Amino acid sequence: MGDESFFMGGAWRGVGLWRQTALACGLLAGLAVHTASAADCPGHPNALGTSRTLVVDPREHPRIGTMQYPETLPLADHEVVLTFDDGPLPRNSNKVLDILAAECVKATFFTIGEMARFSPEGVRKLLAADHTIGTHTQTHPLSMNRMPTERAKQEIDDGIASTKAALGDNADALAPFFRIPGLLRADNVEDYLAEQGIQVWSADFLADDWRHISSARVYDLAISRLEAKGRGILLLHDIQARTVAALPRILETLKARGYRIVHVVPATAERPATPTEPQEWQLHPSPEAVAQWPQVPNFVFANLGNLPAPARSDFDEAEQTTSLLQTSFSRPSWPQPPEPAPENAMPTLVAPASSLFELQGGLDVARHGAALSHRARMASVAHEADSKRLSPREARRANSRQGRLAHAGGRQARRAAANVSRQNAPSATATRRGPVKRMVQVRKRRV
Ligand SMILES: [Zn+2]
Repeated sequence: MGDESFFMGGAWRGVGLWRQTALACGLLAGLAVHTASAADCPGHPNALGTSRTLVVDPREHPRIGTMQYPETLPLADHEVVLTFDDGPLPRNSNKVLDILAAECVKATFFTIGEMARFSPEGVRKLLAADHTIGTHTQTHPLSMNRMPTERAKQEIDDGIASTKAALGDNADALAPFFRIPGLLRADNVEDYLAEQGIQVWSADFLADDWRHISSARVYDLAISRLEAKGRGILLLHDIQARTVAALPRILETLKARGYRIVHVVPATAERPATPTEPQEWQLHPSPEAVAQWPQVPNFVFANLGNLPAPARSDFDEAEQTTSLLQTSFSRPSWPQPPEPAPENAMPTLVAPASSLFELQGGLDVARHGAALSHRARMASVAHEADSKRLSPREARRANSRQGRLAHAGGRQARRAAANVSRQNAPSATATRRGPVKRMVQVRKRRV
């Protein structure tokens, strides 16, 4: 169903007009936004806290996250935005909320519509704790990169409608933020979201917490990838027990290493966007990372568009195995940092630090090589697409590689959501406890 009310009924309406007025009056720079610092965390004097609130206008920056897009949030060095997908699943989501509350940390949650229908109280808890709530489709399909537009719209609209229904009278609190399941982006999906004024959130780094790995590994990946970039959007899953287990130590380490949590909220009529400069929306690679990149023919990054830029985890175990057999572990063809940019070029290079993929142990080292080679191929595909203006078929083929990205509890979340659907069907006779048990069983089978 359509969801025109999303922007017609809430505070979101009129942002543009208000913005113009505010700009005209020169007010933006002087407007303070509430922040909850560690000092404001009652009963937790040593809490990590939330250092500031960043107000963003989705219409000015419709797509963010350097894993896939040229832009990301305008964060300073050592600033981190935490995001949690696929909930709410009370058993684990409530623990995540408790952990965040103990540190007075504010995050962004991307809810699945079916999960919100099953646990509306879980959505209301997010609001009560002053977290930002975005959406993540109705049923978590891992096919939005090849889905008919009308069906994709339905997934988006229904996910929003279900989450707003859970929020009830506070439906206006839903942020126009959206994350595509599996990060399986497509032009038609992004175009529709942009038309609706909804911001697409990719990520700057993952912690692979949907995979069958230990919580210690989740911690290691979260911290090492953050350290490699120095700032950015971390994608986690509040439905995962391993994430619950890893989160306290992640927050503890962020605090110990001087990282600061930024809470992101959408601009509204009463709350203008935080003033920023365009270049702040580009994530600069560290000088150390740039120095380590091998020299290869320079690419022209003008009109880079939204071509996928996968991370190490962009391929599944089967492909890793294949790659291990086929890959010689020579250094990959990393793109060279750009020469001083031509006038029409992107101001900065969007490329990950090689240290992003550095892992311990023999097998992981081998996978590292495979990942880098895969990454190098993807860089080449992206470059070709950019320089040749690929045909639609070629572009689809390139994009299908991106389609392997296995984020999000992916299949697990989709199964859980589908399971909830079945359990909630009119013919279902299960008690409310039934779906939870089923979801736990599904998770155990999956992981
Ligand atoms: Zn997801």
